[in-house]
Amino acid sequence: MLLISNCFFAQVHEQRIVESNQLNAPVFISVEPLAEKSENYQTLSEKEYVISFCQQYAPEYVSLIQSSYSSPNNWSRTVNGVGQTINFNPQNREEIIKEFETIIHETTHHKNSFSGFLIEPSVYLVLSEQERQISNNFFNSDFIARVVSSEAQDKIFRYKTYVSKQSGVGANVEGIVGLMDEYSAYQNGCTAALIAYDNALKNKDTTLAITFLKSAMATHYAYYEFNIFIGAYVQYARLYNPEVHQQILKLNTLKRAYSLNTQRFLNSLQIIQSASTRLKGNYRSVKYTADYYNKTYVDFEKEYMKNFDSDLQALKSNP
Ligand SMILES: [Zn+2]
Repeated sequence: MLLISNCFFAQVHEQRIVESNQLNAPVFISVEPLAEKSENYQTLSEKEYVISFCQQYAPEYVSLIQSSYSSPNNWSRTVNGVGQTINFNPQNREEIIKEFETIIHETTHHKNSFSGFLIEPSVYLVLSEQERQISNNFFNSDFIARVVSSEAQDKIFRYKTYVSKQSGVGANVEGIVGLMDEYSAYQNGCTAALIAYDNALKNKDTTLAITFLKSAMATHYAYYEFNIFIGAYVQYARLYNPEVHQQILKLNTLKRAYSLNTQRFLNSLQIIQSASTRLKGNYRSVKYTADYYNKTYVDFEKEYMKNFDSDLQALKSNP
């Protein structure tokens, strides 16, 4: 089901905001897979370069790259709304560093397109045939507008892209299953970047470690956003579509995927929060970025997420 929709809808797969070296204003980046190319498009050697990099900085993720690699040359990218050509050269280490988290994010989507949810490379949960059939009939995620205030809709960075009425991405048209796919992709990208941060620090390469940390920070608040989207989806179902609500609570694979991705995402948030202790004086160069994300994308979302607490808890429980 996820595969089919990839063919029909323009899929923004990742959105992030990064600092700019030249400008004072932050830079908005979004990534979409190109329609016509397949995962087999890239040469074998490109994949080998990425694997060898991954072996060094995030060995846990080598098996995922091996099975489901998504090449940056298969994506289109907009930066501040302007289309950009990607000419990814895997022999240039700087380019792999720059693309690493997004490669893991897109590769996770590729893996998930076989009707499952990646928790970590060694844990992949597949929806049963029955679960797939049931969830096929769920409502679009944009229905949550009824339980999300217009202030929140405006403030949440990834709202418009993933769950607004205009949005044709899987996170909208596949309802809660599409939301979980996106949650899994952000979680794995962020986690992999933090594993690389940890390994770079162990190699005493603080500059590289900070690069990976900032990469993780550019997406980590997707945790709050997707918990709002998922919690609002369950809440909407509970209030206005009890039949779907009952069905959601019976989707054990989806519920396990939510619980396990949440645990790992929280662990990543913890690593980001403890970075100041670990980096000591070097944290100075990170602090501005951290404050910016917190002020702009975390504080409000973290508070707003509380509106969906009980619905998110219900998703974690076993029947
Ligand atoms: Zn994505």
